[in-house]
Amino acid sequence: MAGHKRAALASEDIRDHNLGIVLATLDRGGAAARAELASATGMARSALSNLSTVLLEHALVRASAERADRGLGRPLERLEIDGAHIVLAGVYLQVDAIVTLAVDLAGRVRYEERVDAPTPPGDPTPVVEQLAGAVTRCRTALAAEGVAVRSLDLVVAGVVPRGSDIVQYALDFGWMGVALRSLVQERVEPFPDGIRLAGDTQYAAFAEFTALKAQDAAADLESIVYIRSATGIGGAVIADGKIFGGANGTVFTPGHTIVDPHGALCECGRRGCLVTVADPELIVDHAGLHDLRRAAGLPAALAEFIARVRAGDAHASAALEDALLWIRMIVDNAIMMYAPQAVVLGGYLAEVCDRIRGLHGTTLDVLGVGGLRGQQAIVPARLGDSAPLQGALTLRRRALLAAPGRSGLLG
Ligand SMILES: [Zn+2]
Repeated sequence: MAGHKRAALASEDIRDHNLGIVLATLDRGGAAARAELASATGMARSALSNLSTVLLEHALVRASAERADRGLGRPLERLEIDGAHIVLAGVYLQVDAIVTLAVDLAGRVRYEERVDAPTPPGDPTPVVEQLAGAVTRCRTALAAEGVAVRSLDLVVAGVVPRGSDIVQYALDFGWMGVALRSLVQERVEPFPDGIRLAGDTQYAAFAEFTALKAQDAAADLESIVYIRSATGIGGAVIADGKIFGGANGTVFTPGHTIVDPHGALCECGRRGCLVTVADPELIVDHAGLHDLRRAAGLPAALAEFIARVRAGDAHASAALEDALLWIRMIVDNAIMMYAPQAVVLGGYLAEVCDRIRGLHGTTLDVLGVGGLRGQQAIVPARLGDSAPLQGALTLRRRALLAAPGRSGLLG
């Protein structure tokens, strides 16, 4: 009896695994006919037909009839991911703005909102109220379509160790050790698949990686280094197609990499970190934009700084060139340390990507994937400020697709 049970369980697991392979193949390659799926997955046509029936019954895939390529004969039925009833939400807290995004199992955007919301540093309560409000608006809008949201990804411009419920630090909000997940959880209805908290940089890197890999020239992309400077200087590494986390999930922190052992004392306690010479606040101040930064905030001052550089302003260009000496050093070191195929530069660095590419040939030789080689493999980030949510929700979707039975998608 126990043996039969084990056998039945094992066959359920195998079926779930195979369903996951079919869904992942459709997710990567788009709509496909059963014969194409059989050839892509190496499964027998009959097995594939049985799996398709299960997926169609649960509306995880849908069929679309298209004319056969030759224009004659009967229409070719193609399968594509459906799952319009399975919706995942995310909310991203950044300085003075909250972005909300919800996608369904196929990755179609089902809800999107961006609100400018003051995020005064200190007591997290007002910010938590804003986050809860954003979550509730998203749920209400989707409920009107008859859809219940399964899960919430809470992403914050700060550092959250892997699997932690606590923001270790988020200097922009003046937070150290804030239990953000529980604070939000107390203010919203529970989600069937729960609430997950994470920092923004790794997810942003994963989203940029996915977007770059979707280009024909970079289809074989498996590893990138991502460096972003907007408030501070953050980074992440994607290796073998996955976020490379290190011991606590926070690899890597270019801003607090030592570039001058005899340099100024950093707020982190070390001496000569990159931020002591190339923090964006320092750069805009050097460019003569200190008053604007104090009055209108760093994002506005950085935008004005870039506009002045573009207009050929000598003062701004000199401040930029001073900073880029250090930024190039960190990009060079990161390439030598992680040997990525490409480097993606975000924040204001995306605007000055051309000026960072002039690295030594020995370093540039490390880079390269498909049609992107050397300097061309140092690219600007292309996604907007919903990038961290896109990354988080893509990973959530892929986890569901990989094991639909175990994820509870089969009823
Ligand atoms: Zn430091």
